[in-house]
Amino acid sequence: MNIKLLNLNCRAATRLLSESLDRDLTRIERIGLRLHLIVCGACRAYRRQLAAMRRMIRRHLATGGDADSEARLSAEARERILKTIEGRA
Ligand SMILES: [Zn+2]
Repeated sequence: MNIKLLNLNCRAATRLLSESLDRDLTRIERIGLRLHLIVCGACRAYRRQLAAMRRMIRRHLATGGDADSEARLSAEARERILKTIEGRA
């Protein structure tokens, strides 16, 4: 058992957070990370950003990047703008 993992610094904690997306962390890594996140607001914020980014990437991949509502809205907006410009020309 690597006792250092129970006293992570932020560099090690963020590395583990990133790696946890790609592989299952060991039990001791999970415990060390959890302990660090309890005391470290910066790494909790990093974890939130990582999770949000992951959701965005997943949604982007799932929709092919152009089927989500924001993309539809901006396409409609583009059309409105183009019509307005053409109407004035
Ligand atoms: Zn930290």
